[in-house]
Amino acid sequence: MRMKTVIVPVIMALLLVFPVLASASGIIQDVENFTGKENVTSWHLLGAKAASIAMEQLSFTKGDENVLAMTNAGYAIINGQTTEKCIDGVTAVSGCTVGKGNLLLIHRSKEKPLWFAFFKKDTKELVYLQVNNAVAGKPLTEINKLTDKEIFVKITKESIGLNDLLNNPGQWEEKVKNKVFEGNEFSLIGIANVWAHPKCTYDFLQVIQFHNHVCPGVNSGYLIIKYLDKMLPLQPGQEYKIIACPPWCKDDAFQVILDTTVGKKGIYVKALTKEQEEKLPPEAKTIAGLYIRWDGKSGSGDGLALGFDFDKVRKLAGVADYSGPEWISKLKMNMELMEYLDNPETLITTLKRFKVDADELAALQAAGVNPLVEIGLMKETKGGADIVLKIGAEAATKNGKTVQLAQPAQIINDRAMVPLRFISEALGASVEWEEDTQTVHITVN
Ligand SMILES: [Zn+2]
Repeated sequence: MRMKTVIVPVIMALLLVFPVLASASGIIQDVENFTGKENVTSWHLLGAKAASIAMEQLSFTKGDENVLAMTNAGYAIINGQTTEKCIDGVTAVSGCTVGKGNLLLIHRSKEKPLWFAFFKKDTKELVYLQVNNAVAGKPLTEINKLTDKEIFVKITKESIGLNDLLNNPGQWEEKVKNKVFEGNEFSLIGIANVWAHPKCTYDFLQVIQFHNHVCPGVNSGYLIIKYLDKMLPLQPGQEYKIIACPPWCKDDAFQVILDTTVGKKGIYVKALTKEQEEKLPPEAKTIAGLYIRWDGKSGSGDGLALGFDFDKVRKLAGVADYSGPEWISKLKMNMELMEYLDNPETLITTLKRFKVDADELAALQAAGVNPLVEIGLMKETKGGADIVLKIGAEAATKNGKTVQLAQPAQIINDRAMVPLRFISEALGASVEWEEDTQTVHITVN
């Protein structure tokens, strides 16, 4: 009897203390093995801790390829320090790697908080952890003493399978409002579900990492690339020149997969005004940009003006009349779009074919040129201005907007005299007054 009473508390105490010590030293051991003992930093520990908490909450073991790890580590900069070492901490403990396609480095602006997320394919559960800025960057020994709750300001677990969302839209609307993943809800839910889709490919994941969320827009860009592969394939020595008119999320896909970046002049971004959009002929309403296969040697290119049918996507996804939250219908469309990777022509049409030489290409790319007019897809919209001036009034209207006048219009000797500078400038001219010669210069471009 006496023996028992002594031994039981000792064993209990050992059980309580030992697992904590074992897991803390265990993950540091993992990081040491991965990166070399002398290279371990507190940043490694943050990633390692996040992974070990997720492993416990999602019950998975190191190397499980059915688990996806996501983080903005490497992009986040905290207290002037970069955060890339966290990524090795995640890999050392969870076994998730870029090569296995189950470690995604999600693009975010540098000032955003540092976070980690782990998603399990079979249970569709996601654990989100956000680092406490106040502890990030402190020495390893100090962070090692802190509790999970001191290191992370948020640790949340949610079921994020598409069916969970579609069946409980109201509940999820509330969760998004309450920022269960600190504002990363749409991004993480979309990426995790698409990653788990059997047709998801690594090049698409690269697009998503850069774009930082999946949406029907970026999906349309990926499908346009598939369409170009079929309809306008590149030969050696050729490259694409893209006129992103009008621009949307699709254009990030081209920059990642085709390297047609803005800085390298592979893509020119041109928005349409409301008036220009209204002037689009019915057959060109779906316009999704101009794609030119440029041959530098011959100085010529073949172009396609493409259209993308989002109404059709909505119908195919069964959300044409969906009354729930917009972001849930977008998730549904994302999953639907995965089914058309092999036949993008279901959603994409060639609106017009055209040829360009170097001068014509330069014109399409130039500021002030509507490229859709240039290739004959639509008619020029004249700028035009509707000006209303009332005699004696201190204000006039230009295209319906009130504009104060320096001088009202007035009747002098039975003639209406109007303020010349106002009228000229309203019509797009510039006016200069030359005092010496008492001359007005009006220049119309
Ligand atoms: Zn997007």
